Amino acid sequence: MDIRLTAFLSVLWLVGARPQAAHAEWLQRTQAIMGTRIYVELWDTDPAHGNAAIDAVMAEMHRIDDLMSHYKPDSQLSQINARAGREPVQVDPELFDLIKLSTHYSEITAGAFDITYASVGYLYDYRRHVRPTEGAIKAALPAVNWRNMLLDQQHHTVRFEHAGMRIDLGGIGKGYAVDCGIAILKARGIQHAVVTAGGDTRIIGDHLGRPWLVAIRHPDDKDKVVTRIPLSDAAMSTSGDYERYFDEKGVRYHHIIDPRTGHSASKVRSATILGPTATQTDGMSKTAFVLGPEKALEIINRTPEYDAVFVCLDGRVLYSNGLRPPAPRPPGASKSDVPKSTAKPRKSGVAPQPADAN
Ligand code: ADP
Ligand code: MG
Repeated sequence: MDIRLTAFLSVLWLVGARPQAAHAEWLQRTQAIMGTRIYVELWDTDPAHGNAAIDAVMAEMHRIDDLMSHYKPDSQLSQINARAGREPVQVDPELFDLIKLSTHYSEITAGAFDITYASVGYLYDYRRHVRPTEGAIKAALPAVNWRNMLLDQQHHTVRFEHAGMRIDLGGIGKGYAVDCGIAILKARGIQHAVVTAGGDTRIIGDHLGRPWLVAIRHPDDKDKVVTRIPLSDAAMSTSGDYERYFDEKGVRYHHIIDPRTGHSASKVRSATILGPTATQTDGMSKTAFVLGPEKALEIINRTPEYDAVFVCLDGRVLYSNGLRPPAPRPPGASKSDVPKSTAKPRKSGVAPQPADAN
């Protein structure tokens, strides 16, 4: 299992002092599951109840990993990859639905998000610094096409039209798992919590009256913060070229693959998406990363439920309209002349915070 200890994209800075209620307390736990770091923090007046809720979230992460991991030969996802080139493979409705949902992101992004990227993606081994030759990429690329995945809704089967096709849910599964964890906490009456899996975070409520601050790290220094985003009742996912990678002759080979070329996408250093659920923001963060800021902002700025932050190749930080502060009043203009902010109302209602001074 590839435990990425550096994948602390969503380091949380708590705002304000912790309240001193008689019995209530913040409980938190970190565990390595799904090849990544799972972090749960919640507020509960009954620590036994709160700890049991965290246990349940961690158990849910294991359950989803057992179903969807491509590292586990017995997982249903591995069964699809082993057999769907020859015959329809029946899977649990839950896995079927997530695969189906992934095709929605492929559709709205003209294939920038595509779980069949794995048909080429499996040729890379970032830990061993292995990358495919141009010939190998060319040979495998025809298998990358989500439209050649036949999904039978009635029987919950998956069939590949192309023998060399493989799928991988690494680009949406952690966001989905976070949402499942949040659903468990809500069902248990938890009103203030955060669940993080790798680059995917979702928050219930606020931090007792103030938003949580979620940091976006510097692409080249995990201890430096580029910006902090205030969040309550929202999700946020970051995709970066510094999570799984190796450098060779000045080129970075990393884990986010442009399905059109079979190469690592290279238009941006990191793409962060804010939105209602982590499944949505996870799917959209790969899309934004592959498309790059210009095209992605076109989509994000006309989709009211999302916002985005990009760390560009030259280090600039770009925000979607919804995160931009209001434009300043021009000199001499009266109050009524103030240009209107293009900002869409977010639940947190606060602008991004400045980066660290260092
Ligand atoms: P994290 O796993 O830390 O949440 P990301 O959300 O950025 O990181 O997901 C990266 C993963 O997405 C890759 O490891 C791979 O499994 C998957 N992936 C890579 N390229 C694509 C793509 N074009 N479409 C869908 N999934 C992808
Ligand atoms: Mg993710």
